[in-house]
Amino acid sequence: MAPTSDDWRSRADAIDWNLRPFIDGAYVDSAAAETFEVRNPATGATLATASVGDAADVDRAVRAARAAFDDGRWSGLGMFSRKAVLGAFADRIAQAAEELALLDSLEMGKPIALALQDAGELAPAFARFCAEQVDRLQGVVANTEPEVLAFSTPEPRGVVGAIAPWNFPLVNAVIKIAPALAAGNTVVLKPSELSSASALRLAELAIEAGVPPGVVNVTPGLGRTVGEALALHGDVDMLSFTGSTATGRRLLQLSGASNGKPLLLECGGKSPTVVFDDVADIEGLAAHICGEALFNQGQVCVARTRVIVQQGLKARLVEAILAEAARRTPGDPLDPAVEFGPLASRGQWERVSGYLGAAAAEGRRPILGDLAALAGHQGAGMAPFVFQDVGRDSVLWREEVFGPVMVVEGFADDAEAIALANDTVYGLAATVWTRDLARAQAAARSIRAGEVIVRATAAPYEGPGFSLPQEGRKASGFGAETGIEGLKAYAAWKKVEFHVGRPS
Ligand code: NAD
Repeated sequence: MAPTSDDWRSRADAIDWNLRPFIDGAYVDSAAAETFEVRNPATGATLATASVGDAADVDRAVRAARAAFDDGRWSGLGMFSRKAVLGAFADRIAQAAEELALLDSLEMGKPIALALQDAGELAPAFARFCAEQVDRLQGVVANTEPEVLAFSTPEPRGVVGAIAPWNFPLVNAVIKIAPALAAGNTVVLKPSELSSASALRLAELAIEAGVPPGVVNVTPGLGRTVGEALALHGDVDMLSFTGSTATGRRLLQLSGASNGKPLLLECGGKSPTVVFDDVADIEGLAAHICGEALFNQGQVCVARTRVIVQQGLKARLVEAILAEAARRTPGDPLDPAVEFGPLASRGQWERVSGYLGAAAAEGRRPILGDLAALAGHQGAGMAPFVFQDVGRDSVLWREEVFGPVMVVEGFADDAEAIALANDTVYGLAATVWTRDLARAQAAARSIRAGEVIVRATAAPYEGPGFSLPQEGRKASGFGAETGIEGLKAYAAWKKVEFHVGRPS
């Protein structure tokens, strides 16, 4: 029988929190004396006291990862063995799904039903995909004169440093670890200080699956302590980052100031939904639009928070969006029926309400949501806000709010629709609603984003899985994730030529 709210609560009470660094196959004490409180955003209660982490933790982890890389205990494994271990890793994640989901739910307020999807479906599926891709990571043989053999071969980069955000704690950790391992690297992962428990547990599961000690290391702590030390470390061969654009830019500086390590940057977004007036089923469409904007309380890098709609349809669509958005109010994340929780922390609540305050100072008024109720509000819960016609200079149009805040803007013709969609420093994703093939094609080509989804229907669809790569544009970063290209990002290419002469 599926666990009830009470079951989840009693399991939560029984957790023995251990947020220490996991290095070389074991938990160790952090070198830092300073600590901070990890809080449950749904209740404000302290879950655990964690160390802020230290450069010495990072150095210890990097040394373990370097030794594990250099002696070939992982990179030297045959393809079948590496695939088998990664497959077992995926299985272990799926088996531990309830435990992992509970950790994410408690640390960042994710509704347990959704955390279970992350841990039971998405994370193991991605690890399995990476396992399956291991022997697709191949070079090419060039056409040459018969006495020469020339080919390219992918090699692991070495020690990969990875830094992850809190919005999908487990999934983000797997998205970093699994392709890096599939390509033969060793890893030092720094999860977000708000949500490090599932990543630490993941490192244990990797060992249980047969990944040798030292190959996956996790160093929790703050960005300014652990994150900066990882980015500055001279023996880290690559840094893979998911998080804000501001931090991504800081990491570029730190790479330049140290060993010039290559970066993969998956940063922020301010993605549009464009709705042309040839679509039908306004209610189904509004449900979709709100889903894509407000899922995970709007704390999704690809959240489509700018809705750009053809003028003739705007009034009807806004009405339907308001009805849909108003159905979402923050509930208890441990209630299996709840799909909308609090924001990930009180700090995130303050950040989002800061943007709403800035919009109010610009004179913008929401058509859904109560700005006055923000004053004196306790906790991290926030119901959705919808604004319309804020203008292209408004903070709500320009900045990534990373919360449940949508803006709706009208357009007159196709050219204006594309111009509005591209009116952002970011370039992660876009959705376009139309049944007109020419419009669809023009929009897919002209929107500068790593993902454009054209929809003529709101009917559910499973999606292409992880088989296709995507890569941010502009301030959203660079470097592919998912697809075979996502594995290749963790490999360095070598050209090899054998000049053997003519056989005598
Ligand atoms: P953040 O940049 O504040 O933190 C991300 C990680 O970087 C955390 O682990 C943090 O501790 C660390 N960090 C912070 N400052 C650092 C520093 N100076 N040096 C090294 N590390 C540092 O982002 P966040 O608030 O955790 O996450 C939200 C952001 O992540 C949003 O901008 C969102 O769009 C982005 N995001 C992007 C994607 C994507 O695939 N493009 C996916 C999820 C989230």
